Amino acid sequence: MALQSINPATGEKLAEFEAWDQERLDLAVRRAAAEFPEWSQRTSMAERCQLMKNAARVLREQQDELAKLITLEMGKSINEAKSEIEKSAWVCEFYAENGPAFLADELIETDASKSYICYQPLGVVLAVMPWNYPFWQVFRFAAPALIAGNIGLLKHASNVPQCAQAIEQVFLDAGFPPYVFTNLMIGSDQVESVIRHRHVRAVTLTGSEPAGRKVAAIAGAELKKTVLELGGSDAFIVMNDADIPAAVEAAVTSRYLNMGQSCIAAKRFIIDQFVYEDFISRLKAAVEAKFVAGDPLEPATTLCPMARQDLLDELHQQVQTCVKYGARLVTGGYQLDRPGCYYAPTILADISSAMPAYREEFFGPVALIFKATEPAHAVGLANATNFGLGGAVWSSDGATAETMALRMESGACFVNGFTKSDPRLPFGGVKNSGYGRELSYHGIREFTNVKSIWIK
Ligand code: NDP
Repeated sequence: MALQSINPATGEKLAEFEAWDQERLDLAVRRAAAEFPEWSQRTSMAERCQLMKNAARVLREQQDELAKLITLEMGKSINEAKSEIEKSAWVCEFYAENGPAFLADELIETDASKSYICYQPLGVVLAVMPWNYPFWQVFRFAAPALIAGNIGLLKHASNVPQCAQAIEQVFLDAGFPPYVFTNLMIGSDQVESVIRHRHVRAVTLTGSEPAGRKVAAIAGAELKKTVLELGGSDAFIVMNDADIPAAVEAAVTSRYLNMGQSCIAAKRFIIDQFVYEDFISRLKAAVEAKFVAGDPLEPATTLCPMARQDLLDELHQQVQTCVKYGARLVTGGYQLDRPGCYYAPTILADISSAMPAYREEFFGPVALIFKATEPAHAVGLANATNFGLGGAVWSSDGATAETMALRMESGACFVNGFTKSDPRLPFGGVKNSGYGRELSYHGIREFTNVKSIWIK
């Protein structure tokens, strides 16, 4: 099977790679495993942190070329791609600076003369990663995992093979020993053999719910730890006392950034009945004024392609089904008449529980609007999904908004803001959005053996 790099703005094939055969794959896993003792025991934490700081430097030095690669392979705007490289550098620095404290021994008083908790690396960890933030998602895993002393294997999404290669090269350019981080040029059908490999100790996956279920089932059969960061259908609640212009501005950013292809994008806008039509008309005006289609490599372009035609087709199907079931198409709802995977930013209002859209994730530039009668109804609607990743509540009544945030079934909830990832805060979900946490001290401890030492 070949892995193809296709520019979604033009449909042009940029590169093609033959997937590795089993022999080459086995060799890569064995080399990775052989590197583990050297990396985890004979390299000090300080040395690993220094290398991670070097990786941040390399990312910044190569920011322009790396950002261009992201844009060419998955279509996001060049400005957003540059920000993604900067954020990847940030997470490297964050763990280089804080990793030692996060993993420091913790003395615990017991009946022993000395007892403590220590955090030891697990070994080789496989990361199955998506295309939507092809650098950030990988560095969010790799920075803490490698600093903790683990070895990283990357199975990146098949449509971003050049980004995958470039990431491996960043680590090599930063001075990491070969095989501490390896890009596996394989398709998803080869992932099972890697998970089952006796040298692989754990798996993390960021992607769709079906992929998460499959990977977790195999890892479960092998009794190997998993961290899953899957989809989301985040609620964005706007109460009648909210600052509506600010909420609309945040809604546009949260929903349409990265052309809506983000797990933590606001996807369901739950609007109080007294500001419902006002919010919709302001959102429509903002969306129609903001987005102009163009080449994503041009910094002025605001409407960029989605990453793949099949993703666009699936999204369009969802929109059409919604309209068939009685949703109001406020704006958009079509593919642009030009080459490339461009989808008009879309707003669908009057979503009801009879529609499939009520429970589905819309992974693209489509806002779904629901009407709420009061705060408890709004929280009920927010929780009426199988997902539970992030969420937002907008209100000028801070205490009520905080209570609502606490009642939302999600891994994060932002008050008068929109969900975004930050290395300082844990990131992950509940329900079908997955389990385990990335980022913060929680993230770096996921792939460690939390070990008790007791000395009489
Ligand atoms: P997938 O979940 O199919 O892909 C994500 C990663 O998982 C890729 O590396 C993919 O490899 C791999 N993968 C897929 N199926 C399996 C499998 N059975 N076993 C092992 N690995 C697998 O996402 P898509 O690209 O198809 O995007 C579709 C949907 O996924 C979106 O609509 C959205 O719901 C969700 N998604 C969520 C993301 C998030 O940030 N949480 C990010 C991207 C997508 P390969 O590319 O080779 O198939």
